[in-house]
Amino acid sequence: MSDVMGRVHSVESMGTVDGPGIRFIVFMQGCLLRCQFCHNPDTWKIGTGTERSAQDVFDEAIKYREFFEASNGGVTVSGGEPLLQIDFLIEFFTLCKKAGIHTTIDSCGGCFTREPEFIEKLDRLMDLNPI
Ligand code: SF4
Repeated sequence: MSDVMGRVHSVESMGTVDGPGIRFIVFMQGCLLRCQFCHNPDTWKIGTGTERSAQDVFDEAIKYREFFEASNGGVTVSGGEPLLQIDFLIEFFTLCKKAGIHTTIDSCGGCFTREPEFIEKLDRLMDLNPI
């Protein structure tokens, strides 16, 4: 069992605008930017949201596998800024890839404070890389 934790704002089980097909969307809590037309300003505040393990979120997402398979969908991690919680992201996508689930993120591509190796590792776990 994975115990890598992340702060999650919310999830959506039937996303159709954040990547191909029907997708399970994970909105991470926290962003350093303040874009004028942000859709999700309630995700900005860092340190709030619900603390959940990557395994727990994966266990919820996998329930929708039939919808992913029928629509060429998968999972999208959005926010907030998902790259701020890259340990969670890597662990969650590792679980998804083992299960054959398509992965992508919705990111501004910034707000990244870790070594480049983390991005390279994430890149290998993403089927669709928007960065
Ligand atoms: S980067 Fe995304 S979540 Fe952050 S303020 Fe901009 S639009 Fe909103």
